[in-house]
Amino acid sequence: MNINPSASLRINPFESAMEQLAKAAKFFSKKESTLLLTLLSQPQRILNVTIPVKMDDGSLKIFQGYRVQFNNARGPYKGGIRYHPQVSLDEVKALSFWMTVKCAVADLPLGGGKSGIIVDPKSLSAGELERLSRGYVRAIADNIGPDKDVPAPDVNTNGMIMGWMLDEFMKVQRSKDNKLRATFTGKLLKDGGSEGREEATGLGGLYVLQAILKHLKLTGNLTAAVQGFGNVGYNVTKFLIDAGMKVVAVSDSKGGIYVPEGINPELTLECKKKHGPPAGGLAGCYCSGSVCDLKKGKTITNAELLELPVDILVPSALENVLTGQNARKIKAKVILEMANGPTAPEADTILYKRGIPVIPDVLSNSGGVSVSCFEWEQNLKGQHWTKDVVNRKLKTKMEKEATNVWLASKKYKTDLRTAAFYLALTRILSAMK
Ligand code: NAD
Repeated sequence: MNINPSASLRINPFESAMEQLAKAAKFFSKKESTLLLTLLSQPQRILNVTIPVKMDDGSLKIFQGYRVQFNNARGPYKGGIRYHPQVSLDEVKALSFWMTVKCAVADLPLGGGKSGIIVDPKSLSAGELERLSRGYVRAIADNIGPDKDVPAPDVNTNGMIMGWMLDEFMKVQRSKDNKLRATFTGKLLKDGGSEGREEATGLGGLYVLQAILKHLKLTGNLTAAVQGFGNVGYNVTKFLIDAGMKVVAVSDSKGGIYVPEGINPELTLECKKKHGPPAGGLAGCYCSGSVCDLKKGKTITNAELLELPVDILVPSALENVLTGQNARKIKAKVILEMANGPTAPEADTILYKRGIPVIPDVLSNSGGVSVSCFEWEQNLKGQHWTKDVVNRKLKTKMEKEATNVWLASKKYKTDLRTAAFYLALTRILSAMK
């Protein structure tokens, strides 16, 4: 994954997370609410580690990394490892809290955690990146393992990095036990990864959306705009189109394209790869005029994309892109949050008052961690499931939990995010008792 997540972080993410917790805690009895607010207001453990790395020029550089183990009431901590120059402890704490909630919404036997290393990975050579990744694992090795804490890729990390980390972890443990492969998920297939993991977040998002649309009784020839055209954005675009919807706009960090006839994701991806950064990403792609369907469209800014008159808006890039400033201008009928934290609390309130349902990240993008959980389970059992089996299990899970969230929102007359939090907190509370 390769994203700049913190650029739009004007709001302290941990404060936003705690605001969301407080809002959902109001639906519990005084005693339960106090317990939840007390136990979930801070992580159970914060590992703050320094990682010495020998650089290619022979010098030694120290990097700082975190592993936040937020809560393990429902099972081992679970959460990705992010490499980014703007990683902050508050961001990692927020993400580990959201992982706790997300795993509970998806009803996985896992808790929540997250890692962050303060580094610009693009400034490192492949060798330096590998030494940093191995050094980080040595620093946290005593605190991870299949039944303790199970990291995964996140922004700027991937299956190859998970492979280095697993190899280093097995060396530290002096063991070749295959069950130790369950220490990391999001691995390449050759290292014990799961079929379907790459597209799981996008496919899970489609299943959640379809379940909610059914409840909203929103049918017909639906249109969508997708912000972000990375792993999640590309896959969700592809799945929405396969399901009969028309995606009329997509964007990346350099800008977006608007094609009223609907974009062709494969051609667009091919073009982005050919004409992408530094030439200019999707915007450069349109200007090059080399992709047939793009000739029928025009370039737009990311801000314009968010305000397009489409049925479904799918933020799939950054945090806090829907704010108090633009929430009144959104024309979409439904928002499917595929990125983590794209809607600031102020925007949430405005959108709810305007009757625009926001399908929350902790539900919409939980397909990724669900298939990570399947990978963990396969490794522990020494099995390898087919893509059909993985996708069937994913569909069943996403449809069931989307309906549970919908029903809770109706029962408690609240927004879908608060309903998802309510569902998660009920499950976490029952595990803590
Ligand atoms: P990615 O790096 O593959 O793609 C991110 C995309 O966002 C890129 O196309 C990038 O150009 C674009 N982008 C960056 N800055 C932008 C900006 N200012 N405006 C518009 N677009 C911009 O990352 P990803 O894996 O697709 O993750 C996207 C989001 O989904 C993140 O919030 C991530 O935490 C979340 N997420 C990902 C997964 C997963 O399985 N990959 C799972 C759950 C949540």
